[in-house]
Amino acid sequence: MAKICLCLTAKTIERNLEILNKYRKYADIAELRVDCLDADERFLIRRFPELAKIPVILTIRRDVDGGHFTGGEGARVNLLARGLAFAEADSRMNFAYVDIEDDLEVPSLEEAARTFGTKIIRSFHKLDGIIDDIPAKIKSMQRSGDEIIKIAVSAKSTADVLKVFQASKLYPKQEKILICMGLYGIYSRILAKKFGSYLTYTSALSEIETPAASGQLDVQELAELYRFKKITKKTKVFGITGFPLKATISPWFFNTLFGLENADAVYAPFPADSTANMLALAEELDVQGLSVTVPHKETIIKGLSEYSLAVRSAGACNTVLRREGLWVGGNTDCAGFSDSLLTFINKKNLKHLKVTIIGAGGAARAVASEVFRLGGKALVLNRTIQKAKDVASLYNFHWAGIDEHGIKLMAKYSEIIIQTTSVGMDGYEAANPVERYNFSGKEAVMDLIYTPAETPFLKQAAAAGCRTLNGYDMVIRQACLQYFHFTGREVPKQFLERLNETGENSWNKIRMG
Ligand code: NAP
Repeated sequence: MAKICLCLTAKTIERNLEILNKYRKYADIAELRVDCLDADERFLIRRFPELAKIPVILTIRRDVDGGHFTGGEGARVNLLARGLAFAEADSRMNFAYVDIEDDLEVPSLEEAARTFGTKIIRSFHKLDGIIDDIPAKIKSMQRSGDEIIKIAVSAKSTADVLKVFQASKLYPKQEKILICMGLYGIYSRILAKKFGSYLTYTSALSEIETPAASGQLDVQELAELYRFKKITKKTKVFGITGFPLKATISPWFFNTLFGLENADAVYAPFPADSTANMLALAEELDVQGLSVTVPHKETIIKGLSEYSLAVRSAGACNTVLRREGLWVGGNTDCAGFSDSLLTFINKKNLKHLKVTIIGAGGAARAVASEVFRLGGKALVLNRTIQKAKDVASLYNFHWAGIDEHGIKLMAKYSEIIIQTTSVGMDGYEAANPVERYNFSGKEAVMDLIYTPAETPFLKQAAAAGCRTLNGYDMVIRQACLQYFHFTGREVPKQFLERLNETGENSWNKIRMG
């Protein structure tokens, strides 16, 4: 089991203790970031382990390594020595660990630490990318053999994280901490055990103090939602891939279910810039299944060995499974969408109904194939007209750009209007892609987005008197189908009863520092 370390970055010892006491049940270790303390508080660090009553890492991070210490190396060494001085025979009174950077060569400091059982974390940080030869770096940092080696790099792509993961498999006996900072590396923190890391660093993100490093997760969320301490090398890994992947209910949905069912499984967010690299990484990490979201639903198909009829007709894939060493694709958006729409309009099919589909991306492809299957006639509008044509031509639908002509045509396809672009979603432009369309109030209007619960598009429709539905019901329906594909089990009814109707809840966002 990897340990959870809570980074304490407040300005005073008292405030750090307050934060620690609030979250201590989730943490195994605390890191006192002395560089974040006010200058006069730094004189008080020696008693901190005794007050904290938990193993503590003594860290004084320089600004060049992403910290706040600017006082020069002499002053920093003096402070480190102060933290390690007057060591007591009862090791609980001493710092359990001291973080000493790879380039800080002060033998007396290391000797003082070792004499009283303070373990050395030899650290290296790279804030502007990763290092080419991580295995060589690990080797060069192995000096006395008793230190924990920490390498924290800034991953700028999925390929970067893949390199770090591959390096993590070398030196299996070496105690180490390998972290990819930033958005791309978020799962190197959740899956610390799989990355061979001794611990993972977290912050208390609900407190106003800034997190210690980019990409850190909230300590409570990591412990409770991701059930971090139950993750072993054998735990089955699932997840969601997309970009930027900042708003999604899926980690909450699947991890809560895994928790309820006491399954040895975890579901992690995998922000990815390339589906090919994502599949390569998923293979190395032995990922069992992936949800696929914007913008990867079409490009991921290239990497699949087999896929379902729904993928073929939609030209988009939102579910990937590992079956006998191959990647197999499915599409649960199709059934999730049609079940949701038909319940909303209280019909069994779309015969004799005229529908506008706004957008021509992966989600629109699933929507168009279902509208066709259910007997509806549609107009596809898209910013890139060629893509509208590509989708519409598959079903003999009309198409147009999102321009004056397209908006005029909408009036003829207005019994049901379905918004499938990412415009209006958290993290994207907060706008209505068809702002110039005048809703009559009679249209049934659906937006596939559910974060925010009401997009500018839905707001405008509701203001005109239309019945509206956001994408929350659809996402839950498609996720239930995905859960069945992943586990072979139905989602328990008592879980579904816990869901609210609008999707307005705090679990829709991936929180990280
Ligand atoms: P995608 O494949 O990347 O397609 C994005 C679509 O949005 C394209 O039609 C694109 O037009 C359009 N678009 C992007 N920026 C635009 C802008 N500034 N102005 C006009 N159009 C713009 O994404 P996707 O997978 O289809 O997902 C689209 C949305 O549906 C996302 O918000 C996603 O969360 C949501 N969704 C929800 C569910 C659910 O279960 N509720 C399921 C699937 C998807 P161009 O072709 O011109 O680039």
